[in-house]
Amino acid sequence: MGACFMCQRGYRAVVAVGELARLGGPGHEAIEIPLYACGACEGQLTLMIADALRSPVRPYVPEWHPH
Ligand SMILES: [Zn+2]
Repeated sequence: MGACFMCQRGYRAVVAVGELARLGGPGHEAIEIPLYACGACEGQLTLMIADALRSPVRPYVPEWHPH
């Protein structure tokens, strides 16, 4: 049980889906944050990952775009 990092709905059944890691450097320490997601979001993540694997090459989208 824990908080889902995707929907942040708080205390619910979650599974570990990965880990957020940041290397240490000047001014900050190295951190590793385990990521937990609820069942619904885990399914969503699985879809996102499958999608990303299907089309690994994506054009770079700059911060600004003319809309
Ligand atoms: Zn969730």
